[in-house]
Amino acid sequence: MAAAADDRHRDRRLAMVRRQIEGRGVCDPRVLEAMKSVPRHRFVSRALASDAYKDHPLPISSGQTISQPYIVALMAEAAAIGSCDRVLEVGTGSGYGAAVLAELAGSVVSVERHRKLADAAARVLAELEYANTTVVCADGSQGYLPGAPYDAVVVTAAASNIPSALLDQLADGGRLVIPVGSPSRSQNLTLITRTGDKTTSQRFCPVRFVPLVEES
Ligand code: SAH
Repeated sequence: MAAAADDRHRDRRLAMVRRQIEGRGVCDPRVLEAMKSVPRHRFVSRALASDAYKDHPLPISSGQTISQPYIVALMAEAAAIGSCDRVLEVGTGSGYGAAVLAELAGSVVSVERHRKLADAAARVLAELEYANTTVVCADGSQGYLPGAPYDAVVVTAAASNIPSALLDQLADGGRLVIPVGSPSRSQNLTLITRTGDKTTSQRFCPVRFVPLVEES
């Protein structure tokens, strides 16, 4: 996939994984490998490329942000993605998170409401040859029915309440990872696991995401 290994940011990327991600307790070897592989600098503007491996979110266009690398890794680990899994990401943004998920999953559908972001992300993902990933411009709070059910759903925007469509589109055994709480304050990173008609919920840590816009 990402023909990334020989880029000039490689050393920074490996140091990022060691210090920011392994250093904070993410230990799933497949997630660590994915974080080592995806060239994060390709998903930000040229002016910010040298900041791409720093320990914080960065601005992208349309007033949105690319999440802190540690949070991307934490969400991917919580979603426990298997190599044949079908994954839905809500909030493509730069496409970076989609690339990390694409390294782990069988297929990824990523939904973004801003056309400009969706097009830019689709372009970079195609350049990096993530053939298992599709970007759709739509309201992701409704999920994406044509690809359902999903083994994992990862939402990278903050919701006050969990949209019911996302739960409905989870496969039996499926995992939903979503920041839940007031968009104007911090949220709790939450993992919902579906077993038959039952769901269980587990809270991880406080996080801060841009709001999930619910249009319908
Ligand atoms: N995963 C991204 C970070 C995205 S920031 C990355 O790796 O860069 C959250 C994104 O969610 C923003 O781009 C925002 O436009 C998008 N978003 C917010 N509400 C949405 C909705 N209802 N449907 C689809 N995308 C949404």
